[in-house]
This record gives sequence, structure tokens and C-alpha cells, in this order.
Amino acid sequence: MDWRDEGLCLREDPDLFFPIGDFRSGVTALQIAEAKAVCGRCPVAGRCLSWAVDTGPVEGIWGGTTEGERRALRLRTMPRRTAGAPAAATEEAA
Ligand code: SF4
Repeated sequence: MDWRDEGLCLREDPDLFFPIGDFRSGVTALQIAEAKAVCGRCPVAGRCLSWAVDTGPVEGIWGGTTEGERRALRLRTMPRRTAGAPAAATEEAA
């Protein structure tokens, strides 16, 4: 069984997890909070978040995070590069 089959979002309106509008205010912020509350009770939230972070930019709420929050996570966990060094050389040294 795929982890997605265990997600609590399968029992919710899919639109809840794809908010539209200004994420910081009003109805959109309430929608995000409601979606995150569902994720907070979800038994596969960890796997969902890992998938969304590893996959790259994906729309919507996954693993209790917005795409902006996942982008910040990627930046925090990305290997640090030495200034001026080509990315490939830094990655080979890691
Ligand atoms: S963490 Fe949230 S988006 Fe991911 S499967 Fe669970 S309910 Fe769905």
C-alpha cells in the first residue's frame, strides 16, 4: 500500500489543500490553518513532508507545510557551497 492511501486528506475536500490568494490573511490563512490541522493528525505526515521536500516545488499543503515553508526547509538542509567553487566540485568533495 502506498503511503498516500493512508493520508487523512483523502477524507477531506481536496480544495482545502490548495489554497488560492494571499497566504497571510483572511479566508486563505484560515484554509491553510485548517489543512495543517488535518496534516497534524495524519499518520503519514512525515513521509508526506519528505516526499514534498524531495520532489521539489509542488503546489499546496503537504505534510503540514506550504510550498514557501518547504522551500525554506530545502535551503536550510542544502549542502553549503564554498564561495567561488563550482557546485559539482563542492558536491564531489562532500
Ligand atoms: S500530511 Fe496532510 S497532505 Fe500529507 S497525506 Fe497527510 S493529510 Fe494529506
